[in-house]
Parts: sequence; structure tokens; C-alpha cells
Amino acid sequence: MADVPSWTWLEGWPALDFVNTVIRRGWQEVELIRTPADLDSWLDAAALPASRPEQVTESDVRDFLALRDPALRLLRAASGHGKWDASDAGVLNEALAAAPEVLAIGDGPGLAEARPVGSPEPFTLLLARLAGEVRDVLVSAPSELALCDAPGCGQLFFRRRPNQAWCGTPCGNRARVDRHHRKGPADA
Ligand SMILES: [Zn+2]
Repeated sequence: MADVPSWTWLEGWPALDFVNTVIRRGWQEVELIRTPADLDSWLDAAALPASRPEQVTESDVRDFLALRDPALRLLRAASGHGKWDASDAGVLNEALAAAPEVLAIGDGPGLAEARPVGSPEPFTLLLARLAGEVRDVLVSAPSELALCDAPGCGQLFFRRRPNQAWCGTPCGNRARVDRHHRKGPADA
């Protein structure tokens, strides 16, 4: 059945919720945003840096994936998995430039407010802000950024303690069981 995903693993960080839309089933990577219905369910579940558009189309799915793929590669590279490709950064920079914003004075002292220049489409603004969230993680390059290299996961996460290898205990358990099975009984 082609049910929409449940998104239970999303953790409320827009940059990570954005790229954790590819998941491993076993060691196989699976794309979770295949249809407008998938994207719609993700928009309801994820931490978003802008309000979601009411409806999304096939073309929005394509635009989403065209930004998500390079964002995923860059964040993986920053976590020590795979190569940094300047053309990926170029794609994110283009998304930022597609909906430029000014930091305006807000409703009182100490308050600022990002305001788009002109009137970008809601989905264009959302993608630009997601690119901005990814940029902020890449620029600060937190040592907490890590990839959970377990079967059935492969998610990017922020470590809550130094040397944390897995995003959660179930992943650590699955990885240990998998390692045991791969070794086989002969050299266990
Ligand atoms: Zn995990």
C-alpha cells in the first residue's frame, strides 16, 4: 500500500526535517516524497520556517526534490559522509536569491522580523527559508551534526552528548543485531 509516511522521526529542526525525507529500509534508501499527498503530509508534520501553502502540486514536488537532494548531500558532507560539491551550494544559493528578505524592525525593542522583498509565491518563500535553515547549519558547522549509520535509519541528527553514534537506542540495537548477522556464526 502506498500510504503516506507517518514522519514520527522528525525532530523539529527545519533543516533536518527537510532532508530526513529519505529513509533507509534495511540498507536501501527510499524516497518518501513521491506525490503531492506525500509532500502535503510532510508539510503538516515538519518544523517549517514559513507558513505552508494550502495546496501542493506535482511541480512543487519536483521543486522540493531539486532543493532537498543538494541540501541532503551538503549536510551529509558536513557530517563526514560524502563529498562537498560546490554546485550543490550553488543550488541552495539560487533558492535563497529567489525570495530575498530584509530584516525589518519588529513590533517593539528587541524584535526583528524577516520580510520578503516583493511578493514571492508561498512555496518559493518556504523553499528559500528552508535553504536558509540549511545554510545556517552549514555555516555554524556544529560538531553535533551526525548521520545515524544504522540499517532502517540513515537520518541526520544533532548529538545530545559527545560520541553519540545513533539517533536513538532502537537504531543502536538494530545496528548491533545487523553486525552480528553479517559476521555470521563462524566468526561471532
Ligand atoms: Zn537512527
